[in-house]
Amino acid sequence: MHTNHAKTALVTGASRGIGAAIAERLARDGFNVLLNFAGGADDAEALARKIERDGGRAVTAQADVTDPAAVARLFDNAEAAFGGLDVLVNNAGIMKLETLAESSDALFDSHIAVNLKGTFNTLREASRRLRDGGRIINLSSSLVGLLMPTYGVYAATKAAVEAMTHILAKELRGRNITVNAVAPGPTATRLFLDGKPQEVVDRLAKAAPLERLGQPDDIAAVVSFLAGADGGWVNGQVLRANGGII
Ligand code: NDP
Repeated sequence: MHTNHAKTALVTGASRGIGAAIAERLARDGFNVLLNFAGGADDAEALARKIERDGGRAVTAQADVTDPAAVARLFDNAEAAFGGLDVLVNNAGIMKLETLAESSDALFDSHIAVNLKGTFNTLREASRRLRDGGRIINLSSSLVGLLMPTYGVYAATKAAVEAMTHILAKELRGRNITVNAVAPGPTATRLFLDGKPQEVVDRLAKAAPLERLGQPDDIAAVVSFLAGADGGWVNGQVLRANGGII
């Protein structure tokens, strides 16, 4: 076990995209970071090495967040590597677009498994094991407000995540743990870009008054605020970070 006194953050789905930017940012903020990934071992390992080259502390841990036993082991890993856990960022997520009429059972079940059950698994574990004074940050989506066609199943899982965010904030009364959600708008990652024609990407990029796509670092900055000292009075909130699209 390391004996440094820095706080420790677990970021799920930290092998790429928004999760990778969050992990890098929290490491720069001084947290020890546990980088969770599902399949992207090489990417996660490369990011951990980069964080360490930059003077941070990072360890990788494979776990499919849909599996409660794997999630429990993830928390074991954090405790073994760094002595305990202070911050959980529930970032792992999937998004496949389809009208409700055309959505398959497999599409529905996979979204429930990763976005909802995955978040539940880590929230349950964190509410038992996070150190007092900790922070929990869930990734929702501005689609919960935008409610665009073809995003029905995805938006439904994120609405459920927002509901759990509000309720867990109340359930953790007395432990000085805040629970918030960050709800990005369109952000330039594989999840958003894959399978979209360029004209759709361009249209969505122009939709916000700030007239560009979000970058992973834009979202990492908001998570950094909520995880850090300045965010300590924000609790039970959903913070939309989307250039003003809604
Ligand atoms: P990416 O597809 O770029 O990255 C997703 C990450 O989640 C990967 O690291 C992937 O790991 C991981 N992951 C997927 N399934 C699992 C699983 N079962 N267990 C553990 N890890 C898993 O997505 P983004 O960075 O765009 O999205 C991050 C979060 O932000 C998601 O919750 C998403 O819903 C939310 N969001 C994104 C928006 C956007 O426009 N990009 C907008 C609003 C919200 P691996 O590579 O190892 O498979």
